[in-house]
Amino acid sequence: MINGQTVLYAIIGNPVEHSLSPILHNGAFRRMGLNAAYLAFKVRDLEDALRGIRGLGIQGVSVTLPFKTKVIPFLDDVEEVAREIRAVNTIVNQRGRMIGYNTDWHGALEALEEKIDLRGKRVLLLGAGGAARAIAFGLKRRDCQVTLSNRTVERGKALANELGFLYRPWLSIEEMEEDVLINTTSVGMSPHDEESPVPKKVLKEGMTVMDIVYRPLRTKLLREAEERGSLTINGLEMLARQGAAQLEIWTGRRPDIGEIKEDLYRALAIGINREEND
Ligand code: NAP
Repeated sequence: MINGQTVLYAIIGNPVEHSLSPILHNGAFRRMGLNAAYLAFKVRDLEDALRGIRGLGIQGVSVTLPFKTKVIPFLDDVEEVAREIRAVNTIVNQRGRMIGYNTDWHGALEALEEKIDLRGKRVLLLGAGGAARAIAFGLKRRDCQVTLSNRTVERGKALANELGFLYRPWLSIEEMEEDVLINTTSVGMSPHDEESPVPKKVLKEGMTVMDIVYRPLRTKLLREAEERGSLTINGLEMLARQGAAQLEIWTGRRPDIGEIKEDLYRALAIGINREEND
């Protein structure tokens, strides 16, 4: 029950209406027995929003598009890896001191490492946007041999060069020697469910294929990877774990991943039905 002692957490972004984070965090708070609530704020002026967070004593904040990089100059401190990635998705408000973290790379790596040992693996990373950047820095930390491919050449080459990865032109993927394929582009995302970033023939048994898109959960890439006998990891695995890492930063306690995933699966299923009924 919300009362005078309820601790407030929030997500800031624009748009935020479709964010699954309120479901993820409020469900976890309830199960953890914490008197806390989490709300979504659609923000137009970032500086005003941060003043409000400080002024109202909101304890923790998730940051989503388009503010993950823009928020950095307004913070009092930023952990090293978030500074390297140049993106913050988590803020802790320590009595007015705002500290920034990045849990996206954590979420992705944890999802992968639950299934495979990443150290030294050959990885084909598709994309060079915000999520790709976070995951790329994580892969670098595991000494993976990464080849990066992105639609916009300059953006792809810039990220590849920054991290010492190889660059492979987009749409040139007719064969794959890598052990792991990670799609961080929005190719395959609803309503373009019938698109996949690579031809089916490159997918093989023994390969691990992760798609961070979670609408739909079973993207065309993952369906084809399953058919070809690859090990697959869907986007909800990363989403659940980046949220769990946020909860751990805010509360010092690790929530149950299985229960978070159940909440998210249910929310996505209801969301899909709603869209169908509209
Ligand atoms: P972003 O910064 O806007 O980057 C988008 C990426 O997708 C860029 O590499 C872009 O290439 C590529 N792209 C977009 N449309 C394309 C197309 N038609 N063909 C080829 N490439 C295309 O976005 P982001 O924040 O990285 O998010 C990317 C995806 O990841 C979204 O679907 C998002 O929902 C998902 N995501 C999931 C999680 C999770 O926890 N599971 C977390 C974050 C993001 P260009 O450089 O050529 O534009």
